[in-house]
Amino acid sequence: MLTELALGRGDLDKLAELRGDAARVEAIIADPATHIVGVSGGDVAVDGSALADVRARLGMAHATYLIGQADGRTFVAAAFDVPPAGFRSLREVGSALGDDEAAVATAAVALDQWHRLHTHCPRCGTPTVPAMAGWERHCPVDGTSHFPRTDPAVIVVITDPDDRLLLARQGTWPQRRFSLVAGYVEPGETAERAVQREVLEEVGLAVGDLDFLGSQPWPFPASLMLCYHARTTKVDFRVDGEEIVEAGWWTRAELAAAVASGELLLPSGVSIARRAIEDWFGEPLREA
Ligand SMILES: [Zn+2]
Repeated sequence: MLTELALGRGDLDKLAELRGDAARVEAIIADPATHIVGVSGGDVAVDGSALADVRARLGMAHATYLIGQADGRTFVAAAFDVPPAGFRSLREVGSALGDDEAAVATAAVALDQWHRLHTHCPRCGTPTVPAMAGWERHCPVDGTSHFPRTDPAVIVVITDPDDRLLLARQGTWPQRRFSLVAGYVEPGETAERAVQREVLEEVGLAVGDLDFLGSQPWPFPASLMLCYHARTTKVDFRVDGEEIVEAGWWTRAELAAAVASGELLLPSGVSIARRAIEDWFGEPLREA
């Protein structure tokens, strides 16, 4: 199993029972001991490798979300339309933040991205309003409640009978940039069936037995990555030429050498893809 994944750690009490109590939430926001986390889409306000407190800029925020409590501290996110100075992408800083602050930042980014993309009622088209301390939106016309989305996606460690690893390059990625095969779970499908379908579609390999390795929230904008290990008895792959344009089998020695020389570029350390590749490899991979 993959444990201790960046963005997936931390022991956050979401304080969900307080979300409907507007007076309590207001009091929490007004309490100077509450940490106000700045969020703007995928960016968060940081000070070195910790979350900054943006209480001084609270008046510029257009919304607040009650995130929760961790290690004796209470966190509220303040959302800004445009990231002010001092904001950085969670993709970049996620692996540097402490476990609890990473969980706080992940929840804040996930919520803010949802609010940005889901501004209107899917039933009647009326603009909806935030509710429940940022964890719902309500339609003022038909009274419906709408909840933050999480879209399940699968990502697959594919190995052959010699325990070589298959890495693939999507057409939209730069040259030399490779990662694991991945894709969204489609409606009506199990996660396991999605793995088999994606692997067959993208690299033409049939895989049977699957082991579940772990999951990671990936709020860019709304994914939950479900990681599996799939073993194949065949080595002859065939890239689809659409989503995947290149692929190849790697031994551990070949991969270490290619990463060290810069011939191969892997996904960043914050991603479950990188962690799963290094789990197969046996230790962290060093770049040039
Ligand atoms: Zn409506």
